[in-house]
Amino acid sequence: MPALSYLNPTPGSPWDTYLAQVDQVTPHLGKLARWVETLKHPKRALIVDIPIEMDNGDVAHFEGYRVQHNLSRGPGKGGVRYHPAVTLEEVLALSAWMTIKNAAVNIPYGGAKGGIRVDPKLLSLNELEKLTRRYTSEISIIIGPTKDIPAPDVNTNPQTMAWMMDTFSALQGGTVTGVVTGKPVELGGSLGRVRATGRGVYLTAREAAKTMGMPLEGAKVAVQGFGNVGSIAAELMAQAHAVVVAVQDHSGSLANPAGINIPTLIQHVRSCGGIAGFTEAEAIDEESFWGVDCDIMIPAALEGQVDGPRAQRIKARLLVEGANGPVNREADQILLERGITVVPDVIANAGGVVVSYFEWVQDFSSFFWSEDEINLRLESIQLGAFRDIQQRALALSVPLRTAAYVIACQRVLQAREVRGLYP
Ligand code: NAD
Repeated sequence: MPALSYLNPTPGSPWDTYLAQVDQVTPHLGKLARWVETLKHPKRALIVDIPIEMDNGDVAHFEGYRVQHNLSRGPGKGGVRYHPAVTLEEVLALSAWMTIKNAAVNIPYGGAKGGIRVDPKLLSLNELEKLTRRYTSEISIIIGPTKDIPAPDVNTNPQTMAWMMDTFSALQGGTVTGVVTGKPVELGGSLGRVRATGRGVYLTAREAAKTMGMPLEGAKVAVQGFGNVGSIAAELMAQAHAVVVAVQDHSGSLANPAGINIPTLIQHVRSCGGIAGFTEAEAIDEESFWGVDCDIMIPAALEGQVDGPRAQRIKARLLVEGANGPVNREADQILLERGITVVPDVIANAGGVVVSYFEWVQDFSSFFWSEDEINLRLESIQLGAFRDIQQRALALSVPLRTAAYVIACQRVLQAREVRGLYP
């Protein structure tokens, strides 16, 4: 593994992108710029070895991480990802984006993230449970309801969180529901959590479109990633009478200018594991997806998916970042020059962590809210934060991303300053 220096990122990597984003906002931070290096150094990064006995009797070792980027505003908060491409540097960037996101929507958390380098599709359910429990046990020294609260991310789900909660509780000798969020509802999970990120993507897209004078009804939408975030955003878009004209996932790309039937596609993905083979739309090649005729593009798969050449081809007027970091540095500049409005990830996909916050609050009080109440509070926090960002962007004449970072970095660094340094 190449040595990782926080200040020498791999060029073009998510951490490189993040550091450039921080540099971009520094001139807007005034006296708080004195503290800006705080944002370039993770507070704590743990690498763990996860040995498990496989079903065939072999012992396999996996590498896992938990990074707490910044804890100035509260305990760490951020998901756990299972993916073959997970690296410490990737988790570092994802944890930093959580610091920014939690501050941008003003919930009382720092930023953290975790991950295991594994292809979960190659593991049985039994092996996945062992992997999750051993990982939880290894990182248990730094997580907890007042320290750092993991949640689902790519390839992890409420079942993963149930195993994490159970393992942590067993180690503590008592029920600790608040150690993770995104749990099953039977176990202290919150109503509305599973759909919250997709709902937030939809809400911010709707609000941004409204500002641009673009009615959602009849708007043509393309969605990359048809998992938890992408499929729900697509479903809510379709319910608002937008026309989902193209979808892409790891298995293929589909287009239908008359609109793809999203509930039917969701059923297809449930039974086939991907969108490939869906017959009610035309299969197109991976690169053509980026050039489809659409008004709104929602990348909701993985980071770095929109590079320079793809940014040149996008026809949409509005791009809403469902995924974390889907647009790389070069592409961000191209989209800006082309006049395409980008709603940044730190606000667009914050719905999941906002409802995670509600879950954590409900767990502390052991008193649970109705789904309507949760959706109303989500809408109020997310749209309130989005409007603040829009206003700041106008006031500073900067893109929405820069405005979101200015607001977030000011909150984090104000907390840092008022807490002071110890000793
Ligand atoms: P998921 O595992 O449910 O879905 C991921 C989707 O991306 C799948 O449809 C998969 O096929 C697709 N995909 C993977 N590789 C691809 C590729 N190379 N090309 C095209 N499609 C590809 O994950 P998710 O929870 O929907 O997360 C998606 C993104 O949203 C991630 O960046 C994640 O960090 C971010 N996010 C998720 C949440 C949440 O609550 N789940 C919250 C905030 C941000």
